[in-house]
Parts: sequence; C-alpha cells; structure tokens
Amino acid sequence: MSLALTRKVRRTAMVVCLAGAGGAATACAPQVTTQQEVQLGADYSRQINQQLPLVRDQATLQYVNNLGRRIAATADQRGIPYTFYVVNSDVVNAFAIPGGHIYINRGLIERADNESQIAGVLAHEIGHVAQRHSITQMQRAQNANTALSVVYGVLLGRNPGAIEQAGIQVGGGAVFAGYTRDAEREADAVAVGYMVRSGYNPQGMVQLFQKLQQLQQRQPSTVERWFATHPSEQERVANTQAAISRTPGAQNANLVTDTRGFQSFRARVAALQPVPTDRRR
Ligand SMILES: [Zn+2]
Repeated sequence: MSLALTRKVRRTAMVVCLAGAGGAATACAPQVTTQQEVQLGADYSRQINQQLPLVRDQATLQYVNNLGRRIAATADQRGIPYTFYVVNSDVVNAFAIPGGHIYINRGLIERADNESQIAGVLAHEIGHVAQRHSITQMQRAQNANTALSVVYGVLLGRNPGAIEQAGIQVGGGAVFAGYTRDAEREADAVAVGYMVRSGYNPQGMVQLFQKLQQLQQRQPSTVERWFATHPSEQERVANTQAAISRTPGAQNANLVTDTRGFQSFRARVAALQPVPTDRRR
C-alpha cells in the first residue's frame, strides 16, 4: 500500500470516527481506563505546570486542596487522587484536565465573597472530571488529528517522545477551548449534588454566576474567557436554581455558606506577589 493510500485510509477512518461519534469520541476510540486517565493527567499537568505561573504558597495550596478533596470525595467514585492548583492570574477562570488536576485562578478567588462560591467552582470542575468530559474532550481532539492517536502512546505507558508531546499539547488545547454546552450544563447539575453532599450551600453557585454577570459590565476583559467557554449566566442561574429545587437537602439550614478559614485564605491570596506581567495569561 502506498503512503498516499495509507493516508487516505486513515482519513476515511477518521471521518467514520467523527461521524459516528456524535459528541462521544469513545464510540470509536479505545476506552481509556481510569489508570490510563490518571497517567495521562499526571503527564499533562507536569507539562502545563511548567507553563503556568502557579502559586507556590503552601498554606494557600493546603486550603484549596482540603476544600477540593472534601467535595471530590462525594463526587468521584473512581479513586482518582485529586490535585488543586492556584494560577497567579487576575483573569477569572478555572479549568480541569483529565486525571483530577484542577486549576483555579487567583482572580476568581479574590472576587468570591464566601466559601460556598469557591466550593461551587471546584464542584463544577470536579464534575467535568467525574463525568469524564475532560478525557472525552482530549480523545476527541486526538481523533480529529490522527486516526491512530499519538496520545495512546502515552496512555499505554511509554515515555512521550517529541511527536507525542505535541499531541498532548493539541489535546490539552482542546480542553482549554472549552467543553460542549451540554457538558457545561451537566457539570453545573452534578455540582449542586456534590455541594449538598459535602455540606455546602449550593446557592453559592448562583451567587457567583450573578457576581460574574455584574463583573462583565464593570471589567469585561477579566471575564471574557469565562463567558466564551460557559453558557450565559442567566441560563446557568435558572438551571442551577431548578437543580437546587430538585435536590433533597439543598435547603438545609446547616449547609455552610462561609467560614473564617475562607476569609483568611482569600486575604492571603490577595496579599501574594502580583502576577508577573510578562507571563500574564
Ligand atoms: Zn465548565
């Protein structure tokens, strides 16, 4: 078979893949096991951690990891070890990559009023991992690039070579580009349940959406990326309120809205060295 024909076959395979996928890349891709997802996430987070201006302050990381893991324990039954990072960026954003690596920007922490608002953001990102949105998104990106995805070299346990590294970056770019609107809605819906189960008032999610809406009027550049990758806040408020009314225990007066621990965490984050302007993103 000539090289050209091989390419043609591969391209055909790719089209079949995409046509049959309908949003679920796993329809044509090998199912990624949890162990493979954890490995892929570890490799990928190592790479992006070299690129991102991360906060190193231990007390800050301890707080966000305690909070995040408390929520993740109620969410993901696969035993994935979750790790939470704070990005030293004033831009309002948070994102998740496969294998339980979750990033939240200091710009979002500093603009939150109480613990339940940040708990809501973490719960939403945990939802993307627990519902396998992040790994599906990465697989879909790989399928779109090559029928025989380079990332499986990584998944199968070999050290990534240069080409495979490039493949990971492409997949990661897809995660950064955002999830489908359906995935976003699902992450919001499951986040309400996680919050109630971990003892947080889910109204914190609604409060944060309303806050970001106000921020869009006052400082549009800080939330531009957020609004480009998430459904409108009006829709999210309405859907989240509906999910809250369906969730048993969501009105319980004992659910936590704020803690002193959060207030000192936020003050600590606000006092950190400002974002280096040359690495700002
Ligand atoms: Zn999301």
